[in-house]
Amino acid sequence: MKFSQPPFVTDLKCLICGSSYPHGNIFTCPHCGIDGILDVQYDYDQIRNLPALRDKIRNRSLDHWRYRELLPISPDIPLPHLHIGWTPVYDVPRLARYFGLRKLFLKDDGRNPTNSFKDRASAIGVMKAMEFGFNTIACASTGNAASSLAGLSAAVGLKSYIFVPERAPEPKFTQLLIFGATVFRVKGTYEQAFDLSKQSCDQFGWYNRNSGTNPFLVEGKKTAGLEIAEQFGKNIPDWVVVSVGDGCTIGGIGKGLREMKQLGLIDRVPRLLGVQAEGTKPILDAFASGKDLIPTGTNTIADSIAVGTPRNWRRAIRQVRLSHGEMIAVSDEEILEAMRVTARLGGVFGEPAGVAGAAGLKKAVEQKIVKSNETAVIVITGNGLKDIQSAKQAAGKEHLVEPTLDAVADLLEKQLKL
Ligand SMILES: *Cc1c(COP(=O)(O)O)cnc(C)c1O
Repeated sequence: MKFSQPPFVTDLKCLICGSSYPHGNIFTCPHCGIDGILDVQYDYDQIRNLPALRDKIRNRSLDHWRYRELLPISPDIPLPHLHIGWTPVYDVPRLARYFGLRKLFLKDDGRNPTNSFKDRASAIGVMKAMEFGFNTIACASTGNAASSLAGLSAAVGLKSYIFVPERAPEPKFTQLLIFGATVFRVKGTYEQAFDLSKQSCDQFGWYNRNSGTNPFLVEGKKTAGLEIAEQFGKNIPDWVVVSVGDGCTIGGIGKGLREMKQLGLIDRVPRLLGVQAEGTKPILDAFASGKDLIPTGTNTIADSIAVGTPRNWRRAIRQVRLSHGEMIAVSDEEILEAMRVTARLGGVFGEPAGVAGAAGLKKAVEQKIVKSNETAVIVITGNGLKDIQSAKQAAGKEHLVEPTLDAVADLLEKQLKL
């Protein structure tokens, strides 16, 4: 069956040389090779002139498909039934006070169906696989992209093959298996798992969901930026804070925010604060030096942003610069502290990469990169139950007690000093 094209996509444009290619199942720019990531282009004039666009969007169901004119999806293919996006935004005054900020919000993307931001991208991935006639889809991932792909594939009835590096946390790994994915645990690094998945896609005819190189997936990640613009409207915060691994999330959010400005739905684009882990900060280094990226090791507990050879670093840096934003790195200690305070003062439990943004914002306020009279929203990119091991490290210990009131009283008096 042949499906009609996404109606408002004009072409795919190389982020390095600017060459343009027609919409289709292509990945990187043939001239620029693996680095030549393609960016989906739309006919914004046509979208802007659609009758009552703003009202049309407003009246749709509260999920990320409400922005379908800005997504590369064919109108002929049924949407997955899982609820993607339109994640809640919380005003968290106690956390704001602790950080020394006038106003602070958390956008909890751990509320997506497989509990991470990656569902936004996987939802587009399965739509493209069906559009291009594949019944099997594959990816390599340190965890969340994989569990998300497994969940979305299960929802639409595609087969999924997943390559994970040996060190992926157990809960994420378990998610893959329960959704029925075929899982290859690669005896090697993430980079080796990535290469093997790509070779397997070429060899066995599977659709490749690797966000770094697939031009369509970042369009799903963009929807968080579209939502932030719509959810805040005129009160859009000064800063949007995002943790950075491969660079697709921050690059996508930046693009989404700029599109909403272009369509006249917000007046100004917030500044982006990109946060990496000190043990894995190749994009921050390239941002600071202005030179090409140099791959690094991957030494951090925040496994979801432990990407030593990021593919989408140019997109990330471009969006940070366009927004007059900044980048900052945080230690594992700071990440563990952020896990505690976002939970205890904000009521949101994030995995290490999920709260790395919070750690980065606290540091940025201390360093006066973010001023105390400014406002910010942190995107919490993944739920804390995704990585129990790190959560336990951050959380502290429970008290073992005999089942008597005396024992409780005794404990309160002696150990808890109340
Ligand atoms: C993937 C991921 C990120 C970073 O996204 P990139 O596109 O790799 O920069 C951040 N947090 C979580 C929880 C993730 O799964």
